[in-house]
Amino acid sequence: MLNVPSQSFPGSSSQQRVSSGGRSKVPLKQGRSLMDWIRLTKSGKDLTGLKGRLIEVTEEELKKHNKRDDCWICIRGFVYNVSPYMEYHPGGEEELMRAAGSDGTDLFDQVHRWVNYESMLKECLVGRMAVKPAVPKDNHEEKKLLNGMLPKSQVTDPLAKEGPSSPSYDWFQTDALVTIVIYTKQKDINLDSVIADHRDDSFRAETVIKDYSYLIHIALSHEIQEDFSVRVVENVGKIEIVLKKKENTSWKCLGHPLENHNSLIPKKDTGLYYRKCQLISKEDVTHDTKLFCLMLPPSTHLQVPTGQHVYFKLTITGTEIVKPYTPVSGSLFSEFKEPVLPNNKYIYFLIKIYPAGLFTPELDHLQIGDYVSVSNPEGNFKISQFQELEDLFLLAAGTGFTPMVKVLSYALTNIPSLRFDLEFVLSAPTSEWNGKRGYISPALLSEFLKRSLDTSKVLICICGPVPFTEQGMKLLHDLNFSKDEIHSFTA
Ligand code: FAD
Repeated sequence: MLNVPSQSFPGSSSQQRVSSGGRSKVPLKQGRSLMDWIRLTKSGKDLTGLKGRLIEVTEEELKKHNKRDDCWICIRGFVYNVSPYMEYHPGGEEELMRAAGSDGTDLFDQVHRWVNYESMLKECLVGRMAVKPAVPKDNHEEKKLLNGMLPKSQVTDPLAKEGPSSPSYDWFQTDALVTIVIYTKQKDINLDSVIADHRDDSFRAETVIKDYSYLIHIALSHEIQEDFSVRVVENVGKIEIVLKKKENTSWKCLGHPLENHNSLIPKKDTGLYYRKCQLISKEDVTHDTKLFCLMLPPSTHLQVPTGQHVYFKLTITGTEIVKPYTPVSGSLFSEFKEPVLPNNKYIYFLIKIYPAGLFTPELDHLQIGDYVSVSNPEGNFKISQFQELEDLFLLAAGTGFTPMVKVLSYALTNIPSLRFDLEFVLSAPTSEWNGKRGYISPALLSEFLKRSLDTSKVLICICGPVPFTEQGMKLLHDLNFSKDEIHSFTA
């Protein structure tokens, strides 16, 4: 593995991977870590200057609070005084100031849609934006009971007109079963494309269609059994979700629509949905890295596509904290046994524990049988990037190895022309190490990254701590690899 020269935070050993858009983190002052921020929010200090009062904020009022020491930002209709948070923001003050005195929702979504700001900034909440009276939209169709008519798809975003043609759904029943059928009208749909959850009486199925998400979200009219099955007819893009009735009665309707039911929304605008997964095992892999096995609830269908990650959510001293992790395949380990449960119910994660970190010590303290909330998969890696591929190079540092596990397994299974070769490069080896040593550099990269033919189609995947990835990307560009030939794994 290639390593990077040591620098200030995030250090070469840090697993603070590069975030979307290659956005860098800035060095934070001593005493300004996320844990320090949480402590400040729990100290009882008045962080808004309003003594706990919540107010209605007009646009004119919001605009006035646009200075560093008096900075209000609106996210999804809620206004926060972020001045006290400035020094704690990993992206730096400048980034926050870009949204000062205005609606920062789009900026926020571009950079870190997954960060749980509601919990982190709850003590900074000033109030809601004053709402202008809106013209009620005619959702007559959706107010009706879902009685088996084929409803028109509700395209909630004008952009969606450029997206996939509107999916739709229908349902039918037998004595024992209810089948929800989703017509995506796309050919590249598979079992990874559907994430379905049944919780209490609500049923939620999100289908990822290109960069969009089509949601079925229903309060079911009758009770169903916990588990259900999902089938995909790939050549016509049809999905069948088969629910088992608790009682063999005839359903007059499927149920009532819930929030965003039957909508097609750009994926970047959807919220993260979490379900609680149980810790099944935790094994040492190296002195600081462990293999965690989590079990999905029986009432969930979720498969993480190759190259994608999920978010874990834990409540740490009263604040919900979210961090990304990439599943690896269980077969990576020699003692691996085929799961007893069907439908890929187990997910494996290789996680490095940072004794001084915020999240990983909490993960490490979880006992077998405890729960952690796990989100839907995210990420911009697409299997189509492998089409007609002739050379594949994977550059990984530290736990940047994790996305490579499934990428490698997929590539070696599906691209027969690929040849496998592995090189370790250590930055701080012991005296017995005879292999390569050093840091990521033009010399190392040009030695490894040789096209098999001048014209061959190449993909280089890179993942690791921020300095490794940023430096690697720059060097790859200098070596004349094009943007399309490089994929960095980001959150
Ligand atoms: P943090 O609190 O973030 O600290 C990490 C290190 O930095 C510690 O050594 C800490 O002491 C130091 N540090 C923290 N703040 C400061 C500061 N202000 N100044 C100086 N030093 C500081 N990790 C995995 O192990 N496995 C994976 O599969 C994985 N997948 C990922 C996928 C993606 C897309 C991304 C973006 C990241 C992934 N990560 C993965 C990294 C993971 O999300 C966390 O960043 C990591 O687990 C560290 O979390 P932490 O809260 O324990 O540590």
